[in-house]
Amino acid sequence: MSTCSLASFFPWRRVRITYTNTVEGSRSAIVRVEPDRRYRPICHVCGKPGAIHAHTRKFIRDLSFGGFTMLLQVEHRKIRCHHCRKVRVEGLAFVDASARVTHRLAAYAAQLCKAGLSVEVVARHLDLDPKTVKTIDKAALQAEFGQTTYDNLKRLAIDEIAVKKGHHYMTVVLDYDTGRVVWMGKGRQNATIDAFFEAMPTEVREGIAAVAIDMWEPYINAVKRWCPQADVVFDLFHVVKAFNKVIDNIRNEEFRKAGGDLRELLKGSKYLFLKNWGNLKREGRVQLEEILNLNERLTTIYWLKDLLAHIWDYYYPGWAMKMLAEWCEVARQDGHPALVKFAEMLERHEYGIISHCKHQIHTSKLEGVNNKIKVIKRIAYGFHDLDYFALKVKQALPGRTSNN
Ligand SMILES: [Zn+2]
Repeated sequence: MSTCSLASFFPWRRVRITYTNTVEGSRSAIVRVEPDRRYRPICHVCGKPGAIHAHTRKFIRDLSFGGFTMLLQVEHRKIRCHHCRKVRVEGLAFVDASARVTHRLAAYAAQLCKAGLSVEVVARHLDLDPKTVKTIDKAALQAEFGQTTYDNLKRLAIDEIAVKKGHHYMTVVLDYDTGRVVWMGKGRQNATIDAFFEAMPTEVREGIAAVAIDMWEPYINAVKRWCPQADVVFDLFHVVKAFNKVIDNIRNEEFRKAGGDLRELLKGSKYLFLKNWGNLKREGRVQLEEILNLNERLTTIYWLKDLLAHIWDYYYPGWAMKMLAEWCEVARQDGHPALVKFAEMLERHEYGIISHCKHQIHTSKLEGVNNKIKVIKRIAYGFHDLDYFALKVKQALPGRTSNN
């Protein structure tokens, strides 16, 4: 590489390219970047000119040219800034004061990450440390998604997602109407979700019409406290999931009590009770019917399971309430403590079950988030940095625009 032939590729003010050469035996090229002495150095914080305090040199990575890794040897001076009353690094147009890569290399790395390449792959491709790539990508995402956008929110879905083994959760807030991930916070407690509503502008808060959530007290309390006018809508999926646990416990109890044919039939019957009738194969249906013929309690819970989903089918609150009352009546008649307890739980949450008639919304929209998590975990360097992870999720689920 001949001296100065590359100068036009470094069109930066306040500096001069004084030397370019390749490093023997490697695919690296050194470019020396020196201050253009016609200019006074400026402070990287305030932009005011200052007096030179010390001369320092450092290496900065730039975009590769012609297969060569470009190393800029930059004379980066320190100045006494009278405005800041401090010794500062001078400001240069092509690199941040503390960065080890040029702005254009950072922009390229961020673009590759945005395109869906993993941090590891981008790091390998650009011969950078993965931590550097992650820092670059995070800074770019922070600029684009760091601020919560509260515009046009009317209906929300709030749910938790598990991010690590054990009990590590994040709370996700979705704009129900566009599918946009509005906000993510660590944990699933009162303080977590309060932080979201607290920063919400008052006029937006007052305009929230409905929020789909699980029957999880911290979320219920937050909606009631911050958006008292909003309808809480409980999600069927979570209720079915909770009732499936009740079904399984009672089925196990009945198995332990049973003898003879019923005991044989109940062996390995867990999924017959959890799956929908329509999804069972013929043999499964026959086995289930035989079980139900032999055991009244299991017949009742199977019927309750079916009825439960129908409560969410109604558009008229009166009918939904009637169906809910019937459900609770049957559960109480059976008298099993777990069924009675479940009925009481449903009655306590009746308001949010009935409001589904008015707002047909549910948290299953958040399943999209769960599906993306695995992919994002792989490309985003694991869950070491949950802030970075949250930014990647927001980037991956920007929602459709309101015109669509
Ligand atoms: Zn300054």
